[in-house]
Amino acid sequence: MGILEVKGVNKRFGGLQALGDVNLSIQENTVHAIIGPNGAGKSTLLNVLVGKLIPDSGSVMFDGQSVLGRKPHEICQMGISRVFQTPEIFTDLSVLENMMIPCFAKRDGSFALHAFGAALGDKEVIERAETMLEEVKLLDKRQMHAGSMSRGDKRRLEMAMCLVQEPRLLLLDEPTAGMARADTNNTIDLLKEIQDTRDITMAIIEHDMHVVFSLAERITVLAQGTPLVEETPENIKGHPKVREAYLGEAQV
Ligand code: ADP
Ligand code: MG
Repeated sequence: MGILEVKGVNKRFGGLQALGDVNLSIQENTVHAIIGPNGAGKSTLLNVLVGKLIPDSGSVMFDGQSVLGRKPHEICQMGISRVFQTPEIFTDLSVLENMMIPCFAKRDGSFALHAFGAALGDKEVIERAETMLEEVKLLDKRQMHAGSMSRGDKRRLEMAMCLVQEPRLLLLDEPTAGMARADTNNTIDLLKEIQDTRDITMAIIEHDMHVVFSLAERITVLAQGTPLVEETPENIKGHPKVREAYLGEAQV
């Protein structure tokens, strides 16, 4: 049994079958990549995994509990976090102030802005925020404007803001999309550090095969809404079904 078990998931948008009988098992403490050509259904699947989209049929269980129909803060409380393509940080605040937000926010995700001013002087919150910044190697940049950091460092900050909530499953939707090579490598290093130092499971949707092969232990290839192959990185290169899936995209 995996920590995440997807069984028989179907999702239609009008006449289009975006997901067709998806079965997927993600093992605890592994990095599992989901790849596939544009329009394969990757983002749709991710939306189902975080409870944002209810499938027409099928089940999604995280550690034995269904995620379907749950509110975002409930998903967060279950230990599932999601990372979007563009880092979600407050560009007008300093790195430290950004980091203090999740350290201060309540577990139900509510956040009293009027009380945040007082929290800025709260030693405990500052300490927690600084410890986390140190873990992602951003402590020396704590006074910097978050908006003026590189894309890779913005991603680091966002991940730190997410990790402080101690998720058990991290879902990443193309975390290096549109990044320059240096920022992509920065992000790969970060994800490797997280993988090495934490008990965490990661499901990563990614177009960049350099990222996939640097991180993934298992790879599922999705095509037209259905998993075609699930394999180790060594076995996926040159796999005939993968080539078929990417026909015209020349990816693998
Ligand atoms: P991927 O992330 O693999 O590129 P998506 O999951 O975004 O693919 O989309 C899968 C298919 O479903 C595409 O054909 C897309 O146009 C369609 N689709 C996605 N979301 C919607 C929606 N909300 N309404 C209608 N069609 C959608
Ligand atoms: Mg997508």
